[in-house]
Amino acid sequence: MNQIEAMSSGRIEILGIPIDNVTEPEALALAAAMIEAGGPHQICTVNPEFIMEARRNPTFRAVLRAADLNTPDGFGVLLAARWLGTTLRGRVTGVELTQGLTRLAAERQYRVFFLGAAPGVAEAAAARLQQRWPALQVAGCYAGSPAPEADEQQRRIIAAARPDILLVAYGHPRQELWIARNQPFLRVPLAMGVGGTFDYLAGRVPRAPRWLRRLGLEWAFRLVAQPARWRRIIDAVPAFLLTVFWQGRRSL
Ligand code: UDP
Repeated sequence: MNQIEAMSSGRIEILGIPIDNVTEPEALALAAAMIEAGGPHQICTVNPEFIMEARRNPTFRAVLRAADLNTPDGFGVLLAARWLGTTLRGRVTGVELTQGLTRLAAERQYRVFFLGAAPGVAEAAAARLQQRWPALQVAGCYAGSPAPEADEQQRRIIAAARPDILLVAYGHPRQELWIARNQPFLRVPLAMGVGGTFDYLAGRVPRAPRWLRRLGLEWAFRLVAQPARWRRIIDAVPAFLLTVFWQGRRSL
């Protein structure tokens, strides 16, 4: 067992998707080990929407099953894990992991590339992070496109920038599929899909206050702040939990 496997040995499965029982500092230590080991490695922040999408989308399911680290992102994942017999030690969300990874990058001089989101948003998110950690080396920012036709051009841009960490904001499952498809052609040791993280960091989308997040009610805040998401949230929270309650134990 190598260092990475040993540190993430607390792995469970929810509806066939592996979830690592890690805290944020452990996830960051694992990320550092992945970068030192050389690539390619993929981290996914798995929330209930990911698990429901994986039930419909076998390619996404295969990518999640092959990922090097799947962090529990979302209170629903913690509830489901508890129902299945494991109390996970915490949530590790895309926003927090992005902040932690960029702090780590600033400390260790890892170069970070910001791919995805609307034009200008990746730049604004990177600038915000650089304000916080002035030593952060931004290898590049590019809005790009998750369409396979754009793969080759984006690979050239990213390879030329030589990042150690690639953050991809195309929303799930496109960002995870983009990474799985393209990372073998890039010399990037660590890649992670970050969903709407750049939007939050750039101040384009409000984030739930900390007290509400602690209560596990971020989804309710999103429902009010972004009503267009209601269908996704309904799918993510109650339908996911019902599926786990009715079927979860059978998949253990
Ligand atoms: N996005 C993009 N190109 C696309 C589709 C989406 O850059 O073709 C970006 C979008 O601007 C946003 C992110 O992907 O920044 C999706 O955020 P969301 O919160 O919906 O992520 P999810 O929760 O689906 O992972």
